[in-house]
Amino acid sequence: MASNRKVLVLPGDGIGPEVMRQVGRVAQWMDRKRIASFDLTEDLVGGAAYDAHGTPLADSTLKAAMAADAVLFGAVGGPKWDNLPFALKPERGLLRLRKEMELFANLRPAMVFEPLIGASTLRPEIVRDLDIMIVRELTGGVYFGEPRGIETLPDGTRRGFNTQVYTTPEIVRVGRVAFELAKKRRGKVTSVEKANVMESGVLWREEMQKLHDTEYREVELAHMYADNCAMQLVRNPKQFDVIVTDNLFGDLLSDCAAMLTGSLGMLPSASLGAADKSGRRKALYEPVHGSAPDIAGKDMANPLASMLSFAMMLRYSFDLGEEATLVERAVQNALKGGVRTSDIMQPGTARVSTTVMGDTLLHELEKLV
Ligand code: NAD
Repeated sequence: MASNRKVLVLPGDGIGPEVMRQVGRVAQWMDRKRIASFDLTEDLVGGAAYDAHGTPLADSTLKAAMAADAVLFGAVGGPKWDNLPFALKPERGLLRLRKEMELFANLRPAMVFEPLIGASTLRPEIVRDLDIMIVRELTGGVYFGEPRGIETLPDGTRRGFNTQVYTTPEIVRVGRVAFELAKKRRGKVTSVEKANVMESGVLWREEMQKLHDTEYREVELAHMYADNCAMQLVRNPKQFDVIVTDNLFGDLLSDCAAMLTGSLGMLPSASLGAADKSGRRKALYEPVHGSAPDIAGKDMANPLASMLSFAMMLRYSFDLGEEATLVERAVQNALKGGVRTSDIMQPGTARVSTTVMGDTLLHELEKLV
């Protein structure tokens, strides 16, 4: 089927191409079934792009990414490229994409699938039915703030410094993403900062409150200090719906929330840019895991994080919520049926390859439609 949904697929290195192959099979299945169709183009990124073009992201690839409605990204990196100069390292390809596409909002859901409840380090009753979304500001804050550096002081000791800085527009645009998500979920946003000890946190809190009061009164807004949030995430994570926070706290809290679900091979993510006049946002979807060189080429990788990233693309870039739910239910049913890749093996389940996990998903999708 012809389609005007332009998707650039960048499988990358290591297990990236292996897991993306399974996503491609599901996209083709949707097309065959006339459920949804996509105009898919594939290109190189990371070490693969370096080998072909001498750069981890060719300008032509960047141009294609800027023109696409969504980018589906696998993973980059591996020992083969570890000794390259910093600017040519595979990971620079991803960082350049994020920067040029101005992907300022990073969405990381933490969802617990019932069949994997035993994989969490927390008790089942704490994480059963957990479904939270962390929205992390991705392009500002202390990781980018100036001045920064390491200097030698007159007494010969050294001083390292970074600057935590946020402006109203930076706070408001990521806040809006969080409130819009909450409207489609359970209607609650928790804004997280350290307003007790940081001026940037005071500004963050005031701007979030103002945005809420002027545009999103129907959404419940709570404020929480970041240290308390870390504690609450492991004490009672189900109190949260959407958490919105800055780059530094988001980095820490999203990893913490992710591990409530137990496995790296199950974690999807989305990074969104600003909406243009037509409401279209630049967007990149990728699993949280890396290129896993230790298992690459062995048909062992878990493709579900990529599959769930694909589901996020359906929901957030193309407003195909039902189709996204279909993919998520197929994942749930495959797990219920007892198939597992090696990273999520449990007693009494069957170890399967990447390809067989893909086969099982297609089978479950067939059963659902
Ligand atoms: P990693 O996520 O690649 O692997 C960590 C461990 O988890 C490994 O034991 C791996 O086998 C396992 N694992 C990861 N994904 C899995 C999956 N889908 N199924 C089964 N097991 C899985 O992290 P790492 O080992 O720290 O990094 C390896 C390479 O990946 C490095 O070059 C690193 O720079 C790169 N990396 C890339 C990204 C990215 O592309 N976004 C993210 C993280 C790391």
